Amino acid sequence: MQFSGFAATKAGGKLEPFKYDPTPLGPDDVEIEITHCGICHSDIHLVNNDWGISEYPLLPGHEIVGTVVETGSAVSGLEPGTRVAVGWQCGACLVCDQCVSGEDNLCAESQATCVGHYGGFADRVRVDSRFAFVLPDGLESETAAPLMCAGITVYSPFKHFGVRPSSRVGVIGIGGLGHLALQFANAFGCEVTAFSTSKAKAEEAIILGAHHFVDTSDEAALDKAAGSIDFLLSTVNADLDWNAYMGVLRPNGMLCVVGVTPNPIAVHPMALIMGRKAISGSPIGSRATIREMLDFAARHGIQAQTETIPMSQVNEAMERIKANKARYRMVLAN
Ligand code: NAP
Ligand code: ZN
Repeated sequence: MQFSGFAATKAGGKLEPFKYDPTPLGPDDVEIEITHCGICHSDIHLVNNDWGISEYPLLPGHEIVGTVVETGSAVSGLEPGTRVAVGWQCGACLVCDQCVSGEDNLCAESQATCVGHYGGFADRVRVDSRFAFVLPDGLESETAAPLMCAGITVYSPFKHFGVRPSSRVGVIGIGGLGHLALQFANAFGCEVTAFSTSKAKAEEAIILGAHHFVDTSDEAALDKAAGSIDFLLSTVNADLDWNAYMGVLRPNGMLCVVGVTPNPIAVHPMALIMGRKAISGSPIGSRATIREMLDFAARHGIQAQTETIPMSQVNEAMERIKANKARYRMVLAN
């Protein structure tokens, strides 16, 4: 049986209906009938080949939720009928130092669900069962799908870099990733500040968990926020005034970038030296951290705020994201 989805045949192309023959079901693989797939801004970067890693036809989608319909001979713990979710990563060597220490997201042989594989904007997908996660009952498929990339990408650095209840956390960009970051940081007990170019998001940012909202379209805003944040997470896919943001950090503060900007981040060394500040990055999260994040989200009622539309309207949905109109994650439904 062929699988059907939507793929781009060239860089920047529109997604078009696309059918393909799935690879044979390997011993460790599961076949998933997809119910929902979130659209991450990384899907847009991939379609455009912004990172030079795209392979066409490119069938995006890496915030997948669905039901197991078939299992390979070596799969244990996932029966047909089980609801599962898949994120950005669909493979790792599982034997390197990073993998055995539980940091498989840092494996040099990490494979991405929709790079060199066909992803989740489709009716079905086959993936390695060790990268398919059972969703806790308390999570709805539609609003949990975005946890699989957006959610884990913001949860993991909070955990890894030791964000504590006493931390003052800032989130730059209140989109798919950012609106989940506000919720997680609030649930961790932090003092949370949203930095946004969209004044219209102010009220919702507070409802999502921010204690303060900084309207960065006001040129004086970052000066006023100087020295106020311990851990500043940038989820923005655009170049910012990084030196000004370094000034927003308190001594020993860290700017952590998860959003992928077009250009290098240039800061003056003195912006790091004075106040002993750091810049870091963080990719998705490990399998262990994904399990923990899903449990935490279920316990604290953390879910994406979604706009759900039929998968056939994927191009309209992507245009909405490009125009920064999505509130806050577009999810495709079959
Ligand atoms: P998104 O939903 O489009 O949100 C991005 C937000 O950035 C927008 O809502 C907007 O927030 C802000 N923004 C957009 N253009 C801007 C501009 N010109 N200047 C300042 N702010 C701007 O995107 P997303 O899905 O959250 O993804 C964000 C980035 O994270 C992408 O680059 C994606 O590839 C990357 N990503 C990285 C990882 C990882 O593992 N590191 C994982 C997933 C995604 P406001 O309206 O509040 O200003
Ligand atoms: Zn993503």
